[in-house]
Amino acid sequence: MFLESASRKGWIEVICGSMFSGKTEELIRRLRRAEFAHQRVEIFKPRIDVRYSEEEVVSHNANTIRSTPVDSSQSILLMSSDVDVVGIDEAQFFDENIVDVCRSLADRGIRVIAAGLDMDYLGNPFGPMPALMAEAEYVTKVHAICVRCGNLAHHSHRLTRNDRLVMLGEKDTYEPVCRHCFAELRAQEISEREHREREPEAEK
Ligand code: ZN
Repeated sequence: MFLESASRKGWIEVICGSMFSGKTEELIRRLRRAEFAHQRVEIFKPRIDVRYSEEEVVSHNANTIRSTPVDSSQSILLMSSDVDVVGIDEAQFFDENIVDVCRSLADRGIRVIAAGLDMDYLGNPFGPMPALMAEAEYVTKVHAICVRCGNLAHHSHRLTRNDRLVMLGEKDTYEPVCRHCFAELRAQEISEREHREREPEAEK
């Protein structure tokens, strides 16, 4: 599907999906193929994503590739001179400007491969991902398996009760679930919350 050489270069690929869907593995697979084709590859991730290793893109199954943590999407532009392929992991945590950055890189003839969560734990589109998917030539949605029923999963259900959106993915705090299990879990959480809110009144 993705040619390692083409006459007119420069395009954007997005790999999206829920937690545990294999986004990073797919990103690493494509980047390794580019390296085998003797292309110059640079990989970036937001500095916020330091859960396992400061300078490596690490997937949950510990497949690794060297990467550079950056503070803003603008740094990617500055650090991408003289490369053929730019990989971006955890793209959902970048600022909105990441879309312009990817466009500039692709216009320059660089193949851009961005991987990220397409939805947050509430099922809402995550940060710059929708705009990035619209701009991309190729979008691949990868799926996890629902831990509750075995269907294909595309939601990341958060097990911890905490309203911070930028909680990083760890196996014990998220689980991949399908549409139907997600709806059941959300309904259950909402009714539990309503129950908690009613309780203080009953004590009066
Ligand atoms: Zn399910």
